[in-house]
Amino acid sequence: MGTAQYILNPREAYIAEQQWRVVKRSVDARQRELRVHLTILTDEAGKPIAKDAPIPLYEPPVFQDVHQAAQSVVIIGAGPAGLFAALTLLEHGIKPIIYERGKEVSERKKDIALLNRNEGLNPESNYCFGEGGAGTFSDGKLFSRSKKRGNMQRVMELFHYFGAPDTVLYEAHAHIGSDKLPGIIKRMRECIIEHGGEIHFETCVTSLKEFKGERLELRVPIILAIGHSAHDTYRMLAAEGVTLETKGFAMGVRIEHPQALINKLFYHNASTEYVGNAAYSLVTQVDGRGVYSFCMCPGGHIVPAGSSAGSCVVNGMSASHRNSPYANSGMVVQINPEDIEGDDPLRGLAYQEMLEQLAFEHGKTPYIAPAQRMRDFVEGKESKSLPACSFLPGLIPSRLDQWLPAHIGKRLQQGFRDFDKKHPGFLTNDAVIVGVESRSSSAVRIPRDPESMQSISTPGLYPCGEGAGYAGGITSSALDGINAAVEIARLFESRTNHTIITQ
Ligand SMILES: Cc1cc2nc3c(=O)[nH]c(=O)nc-3n(C[C@H](O)[C@H](O)[C@H](O)COP(=O)(O)OP(=O)(O)OC[C@H]3O[C@@H](n4cnc5c(N)ncnc54)[C@H](O)[C@@H]3O)c2cc1C
Repeated sequence: MGTAQYILNPREAYIAEQQWRVVKRSVDARQRELRVHLTILTDEAGKPIAKDAPIPLYEPPVFQDVHQAAQSVVIIGAGPAGLFAALTLLEHGIKPIIYERGKEVSERKKDIALLNRNEGLNPESNYCFGEGGAGTFSDGKLFSRSKKRGNMQRVMELFHYFGAPDTVLYEAHAHIGSDKLPGIIKRMRECIIEHGGEIHFETCVTSLKEFKGERLELRVPIILAIGHSAHDTYRMLAAEGVTLETKGFAMGVRIEHPQALINKLFYHNASTEYVGNAAYSLVTQVDGRGVYSFCMCPGGHIVPAGSSAGSCVVNGMSASHRNSPYANSGMVVQINPEDIEGDDPLRGLAYQEMLEQLAFEHGKTPYIAPAQRMRDFVEGKESKSLPACSFLPGLIPSRLDQWLPAHIGKRLQQGFRDFDKKHPGFLTNDAVIVGVESRSSSAVRIPRDPESMQSISTPGLYPCGEGAGYAGGITSSALDGINAAVEIARLFESRTNHTIITQ
């Protein structure tokens, strides 16, 4: 079999997609007319293969029954890294035992609804903590900038196997949507339990040395997949002697434009009927630091993504149809370890907390977020009113231009001017910036041996996913979880082989 490539208009591409087996699709908005690049599977004669031809889309996973398995692995955290590690362990006949501090997804939904109605934050069940981790109520964008880390396609296949749409298998910028993700995560959990794995919700691991009456670290391998928001867990690890180091991260604000304006600027007013709302990705350099858009959510919502009382953190998500009238993205500034005084490996966390508390103080109790019109922010003016916004808890006008630390605020102001030069009209008072986007990446790394993936200080501990500082986003975190599980399976296998040889 081979492939054939086509460049089509959006309608032609849509029709081709209904008929033929597409293996790659991307939208090209560089010219005034939108074009869709399609790669279609063909037979030996070069004829396109029909969409419903009896050719498997991929090798389906085979999960083993591990009720009686001799080997088990503890996983801390049920985000993408933890869940994909668990599924991979099942494929190798190893029993995963997951501890997750948050609630299962349907209960978590209720806490998130309360948060959106401004009726209180549950510090253990929110947009960051709970089944599926930070990825559950997200846009569910499934792509990673890094092509090096291994088999990304397998991550897409597993998402598809548990119910994600066919597009995740071939779309260049695939996404699932916050309405579909909870069901997919629930099916992953059901599979893990049905095959003999364990998931313990509302169980925060507060020590590796003494947990449920055992020394967890000495019992079995531990996959540490805690994400980057569990500041208390990082502090516990530091206190228990696990080596941690500070790493570069990024902070800033979330910005929201009317989606119609973004369609006009980036899709040149073309119809979005067959391609969906326009997305963008912007980057510039200001005074030696990157300023860039992050996690852009077309047709999305800004959400309150904090996990502790007295702090204000925002992020973005969208449903599968991406059809709200708003377009949001994080607008962040690169922060290097040397930008923050001191030598404490956790100083980046303290800096994030400082900014989140500052935003909380400039907002309004409980979680009304501080905001400023975009052009007012750049020109240093007060916003007397704010435009309509998707952020449900509400906004209050605030002088972000005055209280954001200068090395972030000034760079964002210049960054916005740069973006407007490339896309005139982007800098507008119809857009609003909301504070603060502080959790775009991990401020800590838990160093590990590159071969064995074990912590350099604590053998048997496998730090992985975003919180370990080795991944960023759903796909690369999931892949990191898969890789940790494969490494542990290899270790178990080599021990078994060794026993046989010496017998
Ligand atoms: C609102 C929002 C939207 C996002 N949108 C996207 C997107 O569209 N695309 C994308 O690629 N990325 C997105 N992200 C980022 C993405 O969700 C994360 O990169 C990804 O979830 C990281 O996976 P992880 O498994 O490493 O950690 P997490 O998903 O953070 O999971 C860690 C889990 O560990 C648990 N935990 C922590 N400490 C403990 C403990 N001590 N004991 C027990 N359990 C513990 C937490 O409760 C959590 O469930 C978004 C994030 C947010 C908040």
